Amino acid sequence: MRRKTKRLLGIGLAGVAGLSIFMWPIVSRIPTPQADRIADSGVVGVVETGSIAWIIPTTTGVVLIDAGGSADSQNLQAEIGDRTVHAILLTHGHFDHTAGARNYPTTEIIAGPGESGLVSGTEAAGGWMARMSKPLMGEPDYTPPVLREFIDGEIIEIDGETITAIHVPGHTNGSAAYIWNDVLFVGDTVVGRDGYVSELPKPLYDDYAQVPASVAKLASLDFEVIADGHVGLHKNGKELLGAFQTE
Ligand SMILES: [Zn+2]
Repeated sequence: MRRKTKRLLGIGLAGVAGLSIFMWPIVSRIPTPQADRIADSGVVGVVETGSIAWIIPTTTGVVLIDAGGSADSQNLQAEIGDRTVHAILLTHGHFDHTAGARNYPTTEIIAGPGESGLVSGTEAAGGWMARMSKPLMGEPDYTPPVLREFIDGEIIEIDGETITAIHVPGHTNGSAAYIWNDVLFVGDTVVGRDGYVSELPKPLYDDYAQVPASVAKLASLDFEVIADGHVGLHKNGKELLGAFQTE
């Protein structure tokens, strides 16, 4: 190997190791998933490269809430099988929730108000953690050909199912939550822990000041179960969210 190439590689590896050590105290405070595959309350959650993609069955196929953290989403694709993906509803534009969308280029992608730039990679993430982890994970930008933003409170009808879309800024400016039947999909706005619901580590929020209002907005809605972006399903979700705890 030529000396210059070797030196650059060395700097690169040192950088990756250094950043990982720097990030670990924060990343280690995110609880681990309940299982690799979580099936309850009519939905299936598949852990796919760092986050959970949720599958809602529809009359002739499925709808996804988030798409997993890599294009190589083998677990998710195996779970979906040959069913048609009618839409992918994104809770936010961080790559660990969107990357798998590139496997469904003709599917409509729906995101929260103002989130398209982050989804497409034309806007950088607000938080330093998200900005740094994307190049570290090596996920290239991808602009979904069919992408639209919902209007707060919009009722989305897809293939026989009704989903309510809610704007919950804080984790990102265009963060979204969705309600289907009695399940509330919260993305990374809050996270379920052992018997309670709390926030993620604060460096993971673009604008933490907006989180309390977004949590209060969700707590006022009708649902029973919380499906979060990294852990799984949480029964008595409305009660738990009402008693939301800061870390
Ligand atoms: Zn996120």
